[in-house]
Amino acid sequence: MALKTKHSVLDVALAQFDAAAGRLDLADGMREHLRACKRELVVHFPVRLDDGAVATYTGIRVQHNVARGPAKGGIRYSPMVDLDEVRALAMLMTWKCAVVNLPFGGAKGGVEVEPRWLSVAEPERLTRRFATEIAIVIGSENDIPAPDLGTDEHVMDWIMDTISMHRGYSMPGVVTGKPVPIGGTLGRREATGRGVAVVASSVLGAAGRSLEDASVAIQGFGNVGANAARAFDAMGAQVVAISDRSGGVYRPDGFDMAVIADCRDEIANCQEHFQGDRVTNAELLELPVDLLVPAAIEGQITDENAGRVKARFVVEGANGPTTDAADAILADRGITVVPDILANAGGVIVSYFEWVQDFSRYFWDLGEVNRNMDRVLGQAYAEVQATAQRERTTLRTAALMLAVRRVTEAITLRGFYP
Ligand code: NAD
Repeated sequence: MALKTKHSVLDVALAQFDAAAGRLDLADGMREHLRACKRELVVHFPVRLDDGAVATYTGIRVQHNVARGPAKGGIRYSPMVDLDEVRALAMLMTWKCAVVNLPFGGAKGGVEVEPRWLSVAEPERLTRRFATEIAIVIGSENDIPAPDLGTDEHVMDWIMDTISMHRGYSMPGVVTGKPVPIGGTLGRREATGRGVAVVASSVLGAAGRSLEDASVAIQGFGNVGANAARAFDAMGAQVVAISDRSGGVYRPDGFDMAVIADCRDEIANCQEHFQGDRVTNAELLELPVDLLVPAAIEGQITDENAGRVKARFVVEGANGPTTDAADAILADRGITVVPDILANAGGVIVSYFEWVQDFSRYFWDLGEVNRNMDRVLGQAYAEVQATAQRERTTLRTAALMLAVRRVTEAITLRGFYP
């Protein structure tokens, strides 16, 4: 059954897919197949809270397509989680893995919960119960979760331990983004943010510019945003604005990155922590900067504010931060958008390296991880850029065309069982 749509991140994902499918002249049957998700598991489960009460939570795991390999995709804890959102994000994962040519399909999961309202002990009980509920579909050979919005390496180590307890042996490859001592890889925590800066450097280079002295505004100061800030600084750019859910801070002369380097990924409140002019999250998107990096949640650049974006380049650290209508406005205005499936693929690339290391029980040094990530990301960027030039289209449609072509090729080669 094809997915029903409402105005949502799923609408945006389907519209993006349709644009690429149309250019590829995809047959109707294949188009319908790829608009739907292969497997969707919704679970409602009880968790005992610290005060003795029991609360019931809803969790979801969706696998969009597994033609190219095991399903891969993060798990988010957020009050916004719903089935359509998870479907859209699972579909994006299929395209993301394909565009950077990893042997993975796409998945996503989530629990509808505000993690900040849980006590210290409750996240572990919630995670272990959710892992048990979805144990029937996840595993190192079939579906491998990773951290996402509201989850971190601790959530991954609880999932890894829970599944390992069920199976009776250690199964490090069941998740990526784990702590290093239990089979995680060096470089994973920084990988998504670092990849954002690496891709930004390529897109600036293609326009005859350089990161040196480019000014950057970053929305979101979590795993992606904070690590992107550090990587931009290390590569010579000037980070002039940052924010979290409580608001942002703007310093036209740039932040002291030693301060940023020292603080943990999710600081309590950017506005209390950093000196500068206070701005709202909406104002941050419209600051006069060279590069804008939305790295928080989806649907931030819309048809309402796209006309006021002043950055010449938008590099999507978050998944789905630009609506379809906004994408068209930015393209008309000559603003280059590096799409999420390419810009934030550093995380899944290093997740793939982690999974490979877990299987081989042989762990790489940081230099090897980063060199290989730069190579894979660099090649994907070059292929997307060449496709965009040849097809006279945006980087987003070009990336999707490459990805959809790879997935349809795999489906066709495998044939239609039985
Ligand atoms: P995170 O939970 O570590 O951090 C999220 C940040 O966004 C925090 O600073 C939070 O305060 C801020 N935020 C939350 N709601 C906000 C709002 N309404 N307005 C402004 N800011 C808000 O999450 P993360 O892992 O950094 O993920 C951020 C985005 O990047 C998500 O879209 C996620 O899907 C995507 N992503 C993450 C990874 C990864 O490796 N973690 C990989 C690829 C893509």
